[in-house]
Amino acid sequence: MNTTVLKAEGLGKTFPGRSGLASAGRSKGVRAVDDVSLSMNAGETLAVVGESGCGKSTLGRLLLRLIEPTEGEVSIDGTDVSSLSGGEMRQFRRHAQMVFQDPFGSLSPRRTIARIISEPMESFGTEATARARRERVAELLTQVGLPTAVMDRKPRHFSGGQRQRICIARAISVSPRVIIADEPVSALDVSVQAQIINLLQDLQEDSGFAMLFIAHDLAVVRHIADRVAVMYLGRIVEIGSKDQIYTAPQHPYTQALLSAVPEASPTRRRKRIVLGGDVPSPVKVPSGCSFHPRCPIAQDICRTTRPALAHKNGGSEVACHFAAPNPLG
Ligand code: SF4
Repeated sequence: MNTTVLKAEGLGKTFPGRSGLASAGRSKGVRAVDDVSLSMNAGETLAVVGESGCGKSTLGRLLLRLIEPTEGEVSIDGTDVSSLSGGEMRQFRRHAQMVFQDPFGSLSPRRTIARIISEPMESFGTEATARARRERVAELLTQVGLPTAVMDRKPRHFSGGQRQRICIARAISVSPRVIIADEPVSALDVSVQAQIINLLQDLQEDSGFAMLFIAHDLAVVRHIADRVAVMYLGRIVEIGSKDQIYTAPQHPYTQALLSAVPEASPTRRRKRIVLGGDVPSPVKVPSGCSFHPRCPIAQDICRTTRPALAHKNGGSEVACHFAAPNPLG
């Protein structure tokens, strides 16, 4: 039976705009995330993809309440995270941990590996004594494929891939129910990326945490995701199983993103769909369907009426008036 671990409903975030003389009186906010609803089951990986600035990292932080939502609710294992006080939230964070993109910046250079990995255990009181924490650090290092002998070294002695293993050990040290992995392999060499992806998959299989995997590389996502959500200008425009998204994407934006992904077989070639224009500014989101200025099949209704996310054509949920499966042949 599928157990829902995380649920978000109507989540939105508007960052305040600039005002005053320097900004010529502009005060309109930046709509970074707009009306996002999603859920994740135990042991499931939901990948969130989209171009830079589409709101995927902000969404990850909203889910953990690292930033406060403007509206909407998040619950983890049935607890309404949005209603917790500051102190309650600090304790609750044990259940939801984050792995960041930059393994160089996210480890304190002055601390030993043992100290770094022990931090969450100390904060949340999951291991009562220093000795128990040290034993747990040894166990975690083995789990992430590092020798226990490294625990008294400092981060500067490690490569990017090894540092990301340390970050992952720290994240899983308190047995979280949810992990938000924000571009966890994009700063690593291609050869190391696969090792980290495999490690995350193995750990998930052992522990059963739900994982939100934020990425822009659709080739990487294909390896790790169970389901995929595609974001554009702060909204989810398509969400479905990996097979639905990769074999029959319905939204023109998803189709364009996937057309740029190299085929596994060199004998197969996809027709590349090149979108016109740049992603519009989230300060001035286009009316109707926000994708209409770049959409190759836009019609009049698209400029005035925002399409709702809905199941269409027996496939994924898609926000498009004219959605149609495209096998990307
Ligand atoms: Fe394109 Fe219209 Fe669909 Fe938006 S609703 S993706 S503009 S066809």
